Amino acid sequence: MDANKKAELKNKLEALRVQLEAELKAFKNPTEMGDEIDALDTEADEAEEFSANAGMAQAIQDRHEAVVAALGKMEKGTYGVCEACKNDIEIELLMVDPESHLCKSCKAK
Ligand SMILES: [Zn+2]
Repeated sequence: MDANKKAELKNKLEALRVQLEAELKAFKNPTEMGDEIDALDTEADEAEEFSANAGMAQAIQDRHEAVVAALGKMEKGTYGVCEACKNDIEIELLMVDPESHLCKSCKAK
């Protein structure tokens, strides 16, 4: 992989990691978001909100793990290799989805 591209992707991943960690923190400490949650009208709304948030928190957590794994692979020099078919992952895919561990065709399966 092109060294410039790799450096760019590493920057993207580092920025993503920081961003996702901040989002996770916000989910884990909802009280910091103020009293607005308490002002919700019904319990049903609260429950709905809670399960939507839990799903979102899980999605952020999963993405965070993928980002950390991708950064680890960069250290080891195995970044950008598809885990399923061992071919190089397309650079245009990595530009959109830098934590991807599958190439386009394996992703489509
Ligand atoms: Zn593949």
